[in-house]
Amino acid sequence: MEVTELIAQGGHEQVVAFADARLGLRGMIAIHSTALGPALGGIRFWHYASDDEVLVDVLRLSGAMTRKAAVAGLRQGGGKTVVRWDDPHRERTDELRRAIGRAIHLLGGRYLAAEDVGATTADMDGIALETPWVTGIDPANGGSGDPSPVTAWGVVHAMYATCDEAFGDPDLFERRVVVQGAGHVGAELARLLVEQGALVTISDVDSEKVAHVAARLEVDVIPPQHVLETECDVLAPCALGGVFRADTVAGLRCAAVCGAANNQLADDEAGGALAARGIVYAPDYVANAGGIINIAHEWAPGGYSEERARAEVAGIEETTRRVFAIAREEGITPGRAADELARRRLEADGGPPYVPGEPSVMRDALLTRWASLST
Ligand code: NAD
Repeated sequence: MEVTELIAQGGHEQVVAFADARLGLRGMIAIHSTALGPALGGIRFWHYASDDEVLVDVLRLSGAMTRKAAVAGLRQGGGKTVVRWDDPHRERTDELRRAIGRAIHLLGGRYLAAEDVGATTADMDGIALETPWVTGIDPANGGSGDPSPVTAWGVVHAMYATCDEAFGDPDLFERRVVVQGAGHVGAELARLLVEQGALVTISDVDSEKVAHVAARLEVDVIPPQHVLETECDVLAPCALGGVFRADTVAGLRCAAVCGAANNQLADDEAGGALAARGIVYAPDYVANAGGIINIAHEWAPGGYSEERARAEVAGIEETTRRVFAIAREEGITPGRAADELARRRLEADGGPPYVPGEPSVMRDALLTRWASLST
């Protein structure tokens, strides 16, 4: 594999590999773009067969973060860390977390870490012992904690725009919504939807999670294998990616799709297949941007405020409307329209790559928080 060629092809700025043989630590950090600001992106702990796989994944994921931050209107770029983690039950020590923190610290603030698949608030807290360039730490330490409730709040706002596009009415009252996945985001989304009078059906491969939600809320429950074929107004994927392929789209009985799961479209054809069937699709990275907007607020002057973060997350409704408008005007799918919106933002507001050490409100706020953490 021509590593530098691969990096150049995707337009990435920088890739760093790090390792500590004694701690059994190996990983890579990719910075796709800092044109809008420091590259923000989660740390993924996952199993990979080879470094080639790690590289391909970290490049793909960091590129997606650039588009997500750009469309969300943030002054942030896109980055990602991948740590090779073959045994999901392996305990993570603070020593290992500190070593990851040092790798991040050496980038001088060009990359800002957050939680992703496999990571926890405890990981972020451990990393924060070595670097201020980390988000999502415990609220007790000045962070914003678990982003899932705010992500769900953002999905609800994307759903207003989606229902308006599909039915000419943003109201969720008596809308039939099927939520796939009753995890952190799905359970909270179900609660918010019930609160608004929607008729909610939930499903999860984990029956305990479904039971937990059903005990608290008035929802219907269906087996996971029936989610895609259940008739509804809106299908809200909140489980894993790759839900929509040409064959699964053919069997759908919904008018619209709007959910939190990342990478819902298995391939490029899936977006076209949804459009061909007249199903309104709210692009995943537009609808689920609540989490990233929330952590960006950790650097707001005066520190993190959930109220201010939620007010900005509500803007996802307007962003989703703009995406649908571009799709209509240009005769393209909403997925392509979201990519186009990201491109326009980068063109309009993008600057040269972010240089570490530049004074900024964000950096000062982080350093102050770090100083209080380390004492
Ligand atoms: P989670 O792990 O808490 O919940 C996912 C749930 O989906 C689990 O309960 C799991 O059992 C269930 N599931 C897996 N396969 C299923 C299937 N085939 N049918 C039904 N249920 C199934 O994860 P989460 O934090 O709630 O995130 C959900 C999705 O949203 C993920 O794709 C994640 O990447 C994305 N996302 C989350 C956030 C956030 O703030 N948590 C932000 C942006 C995007």
